[in-house]
Amino acid sequence: MMLLYEGKAKQVYSTEKENEYIVYFKDDATAFNGEKKAEISSKGILNNKISTIMFEMLHEKQISTHFVKNISEREMLVKKVEILPLEVIVRNITAGSFCKRVGIEEGIVLDEPIFEICYKNDEYGDPMLNDDHAVAMKLATRDELKFLREETLKINELMKEFFLKMNLKLVDFKLEFGKDSEGNIILADEISPDTCRLWDVDTNEKLDKDRFRRDLGDLVKGYEEVLSRISN
Ligand code: UDP
Repeated sequence: MMLLYEGKAKQVYSTEKENEYIVYFKDDATAFNGEKKAEISSKGILNNKISTIMFEMLHEKQISTHFVKNISEREMLVKKVEILPLEVIVRNITAGSFCKRVGIEEGIVLDEPIFEICYKNDEYGDPMLNDDHAVAMKLATRDELKFLREETLKINELMKEFFLKMNLKLVDFKLEFGKDSEGNIILADEISPDTCRLWDVDTNEKLDKDRFRRDLGDLVKGYEEVLSRISN
């Protein structure tokens, strides 16, 4: 196995198979573009388990993902893809950077989901783009952007419904997509409380990375609660 890429929360390794990679989930937590950092024991294990359940659920609903199988506590076998340099965000309830940017209160349920794209670039703080910017920068074509929006909104409906059954509100989340060897765009990266805001339906308790970002309580307890609800 050769380390091909190391990000803030994961490592990607090659395998003996040309078209498969291994994703290793680390315990590192970062926020505010890497300004706040910590190592949180067992976070990687929880995110690997939660992501596995989410990718399996989406696969059952005919969504193509890079997930192949879970191979260990911290490792997932995935299809080799070239990650698009875009972060795709959906918001169902106001929170986070949207509130900060426009001065809107947190917790307002939106009449329809907001779809955003950001340029995956740490140096520039992942700036938000519109379609014209993304096309001008040759990050994606118009057709690819149309597909990303439609696919992401479909995934939003499936995830919202899935989490609601577990008494969790899907506030917002980030997805990343990649191109496989045949040129198909498929869902990649991870789906975990690092990348989704999840609130308890009854109490609005935050069970996601905001616990770390805003010192709202034990992060592991929150992630364990999410895992235990979706494991049933
Ligand atoms: N998000 C993420 N990675 C990023 C930026 C955002 O996973 O680099 C997720 C974040 O956890 C939240 C959603 O995308 O669920 C929207 O994040 P937001 O734009 O509000 O930014 P943040 O408050 O995280 O700075």
